[in-house]
Amino acid sequence: MQQEYIRIRGARENNLKNVSLDIPKRQITIFTGVSGSGKSSIVFDTIGAEAQRQLNETFSMFIRNRLPRISQPEADVIEHLSTAIVIDQKRLGGNSRSTMGTITDIYAVLRLLFSRIGQPFVGYSNTFSFNDPSGMCPECMGVGQKIEVDLDRFLDRSKSLNEGAILFPTFGVGTWYWKSYVYSGLLDNDKKLEDYTEDEWQTLLYGKGTFETALDNNVPITAKFEGLIDKFNRLYIQKDAAEMSERTRKNAEQFLKMGTCPACKGARLNAAVLGCRINGLNIAEMSAMEVSALVGIVEKIQDPIAAPMIASLAMRLQHLVDIGLGYLSLDRETATLSGGESQRIKMVKHLNSSLVDIIYIFDEPSIGLHPRDVHRLNELLVKLRDKGNTILVVEHDPDVIRIADHIVDIGPKAGSNGGEVVYQGSYDGLLQADTLTGRFLHKKTTLKDKVRQPTGALSIRNAHIHNLRNISIDIPTGVLTAVTGVAGSGKSSLINKVFLSQHPEAVVIDQSAVGASIRSNPATYTGIMDDIRQLFGKANKVSASLFSFNSKGACPGCQGLGFIFTDLAFLEPIRTICEICNGKRFSEEVLQYTLHGKTITDVLEMTVEQALDFFQRKEVKNKLKAMYDVGLDYLTLGQPLSTLSGGECQRIKLAGELHKSGSIYVMDEPTTGLHLSDTGHLLEIIDRLVDLGNTVVVIEHNTDVIRHADWIIDLGPGGGKDGGRIVFEGTPQEILNAEGSLTGKYLLI
Ligand code: ADP
Ligand code: ADP
Ligand code: ZN
Ligand code: ZN
Repeated sequence: MQQEYIRIRGARENNLKNVSLDIPKRQITIFTGVSGSGKSSIVFDTIGAEAQRQLNETFSMFIRNRLPRISQPEADVIEHLSTAIVIDQKRLGGNSRSTMGTITDIYAVLRLLFSRIGQPFVGYSNTFSFNDPSGMCPECMGVGQKIEVDLDRFLDRSKSLNEGAILFPTFGVGTWYWKSYVYSGLLDNDKKLEDYTEDEWQTLLYGKGTFETALDNNVPITAKFEGLIDKFNRLYIQKDAAEMSERTRKNAEQFLKMGTCPACKGARLNAAVLGCRINGLNIAEMSAMEVSALVGIVEKIQDPIAAPMIASLAMRLQHLVDIGLGYLSLDRETATLSGGESQRIKMVKHLNSSLVDIIYIFDEPSIGLHPRDVHRLNELLVKLRDKGNTILVVEHDPDVIRIADHIVDIGPKAGSNGGEVVYQGSYDGLLQADTLTGRFLHKKTTLKDKVRQPTGALSIRNAHIHNLRNISIDIPTGVLTAVTGVAGSGKSSLINKVFLSQHPEAVVIDQSAVGASIRSNPATYTGIMDDIRQLFGKANKVSASLFSFNSKGACPGCQGLGFIFTDLAFLEPIRTICEICNGKRFSEEVLQYTLHGKTITDVLEMTVEQALDFFQRKEVKNKLKAMYDVGLDYLTLGQPLSTLSGGECQRIKLAGELHKSGSIYVMDEPTTGLHLSDTGHLLEIIDRLVDLGNTVVVIEHNTDVIRHADWIIDLGPGGGKDGGRIVFEGTPQEILNAEGSLTGKYLLI
């Protein structure tokens, strides 16, 4: 009998307070709630983890011993699970041989098609693979790139050969190699390289020949002339590294760069494969096209025998277009894809799957999507459900929340103030519910009518990487600028690549992890740990250093970690609470000392809010206040930073900036992971930063943030080759009536 619900009783992972839930199967359930309320603790740490653990149990001991060990989540009952697949925002990564085509398996279908109907016939489908020796370009081994001499570093074009135009020391003025050029009689040694004719360049770089000259001591000798590039290649690039001294190799390395492979021009395949075509296009040309254009090309291929294959290929490509990735090409390396793009690609992979009764778990799939494209995502979620799967989604975007069959709202707030189910039921019911989510679904940020006046401008000149069409634009200082546009329009290329390289002083505030050490926590990160130690030292007339779990005061059993790792040969080490200190991390001696009746452990267990009450010292209060102001009042001073969510990391970084002025901050989708009510909070923090005299640039799709900006730069009109232009710059009021700006339309809704 098929069970209709996933049953959870008494879930207690992280901050969950004995949560019990029945989640309908084969429906879309959306989990809402403020950042830190416990959504991930239910969806990933309880349901996802248990499903994975149960799956692992089905394997033989041999395999199990090789899998990471997952401990049973803290819960009384978790029943009626099926196989779960987590589709998250982790970037796909991968080496240069991993492309969007290979990872989606679409390239494999394309290869098969070429092996069947390509003209002329060159081989089996593996021949069309750049990862296969029979297909790869022999020059670059299928990478499409080759190491070459970096001429910009090698030559100073404003000088002549006699003035030392060759910067590589081994070829410097007076050296043997230098003489082989200046005594050749083939070049004008006093002419600046930038004044060379095309012919002279060819001679210098690639020329060949012999010449006779009196090189030394007036003895005529015959010497070979070999162009600079050829000579450098022969001496350093083609030579086995083992035959070079460490110094020579290091020396030469500074003059190298990766360049397009001259043999295949980046196509990665050998000449025979590239000569094989369908309707005039070879496989590399098809892979380099934007997917939205490739669909049409594939659909036009007429071949009765290959018809099913063509239809399947067209369908898979159409899925990519449907999810808003039509601006990407199959040859795009996966390592260069954003988190949102990676997630959507993983999703497409499963749309082709014929498996049913899978639990799909999504983590904010709307990330990176312009409001225009959110309906595409919704359609795919519905499609996956209608195939007979259970869809669990953590999401904040009201346009996605709306499609839920069932909603689970977690709250009421974050951390220890959260961890309960505050509402479950239909979307319409949520609109009536007296929860933060219910209330905020009715709220709308008003369009800013009184914008700040810029104090100056930071200019970007001739931005042309990727799809950018030679953009020159000024970013106003002292205000909040929102950079908008559909996915693939060029926002990150413009800001993260060009702007950041032209203005390196800008500070990026992102959601990446803070503090690499397992021992760092909010107290150490903000520096108040030092003050706390001093206060304890002074009050007890002992050394302040005693109150550090990194040194003298540490529990001898666990060296201040609070837990012990037990190594189990094949298995993941097991983490158990230290029996000596009971997780308190300090030695017994240290725990005798108190400050206003609290031990150091008591203090580290305080939340930011409680600590604000407890401490009077101004420096401590100021830092705590900054954390309070960014909405981290519920964090305890001792919570390991490694357990913070992306949104929490972002906010703790922001807290550290709230006393500065004159800085430039760049934030890429800062509302990721943020509830509607958190977004209001974030905007208050950003306002504070700007009012302190800082410049803030955000890349955003969130209409609340865009409405609140002082200045909008809208890129587009579309993605990929249809984007890369500035379609609007101005204030929020002005964008409403701007022709050609899609973003303006969505601000009214
Ligand atoms: P959400 O997904 O709603 O943003 P989480 O489930 O990630 O919330 O977190 C709920 C609370 O539990 C937060 O206060 C978070 O800091 C805390 N938390 C998450 N993981 C851990 C952990 N491994 N140890 C301790 N606290 C954690
Ligand atoms: P947005 O940030 O607006 O989503 P991007 O700047 O990421 O847009 O992308 C703009 C265009 O540049 C798209 O066509 C994208 O495929 C392309 N692009 C982005 N990064 C790379 C890269 N590393 N290599 C090749 N093309 C890229
Ligand atoms: Zn090549
Ligand atoms: Zn201990």
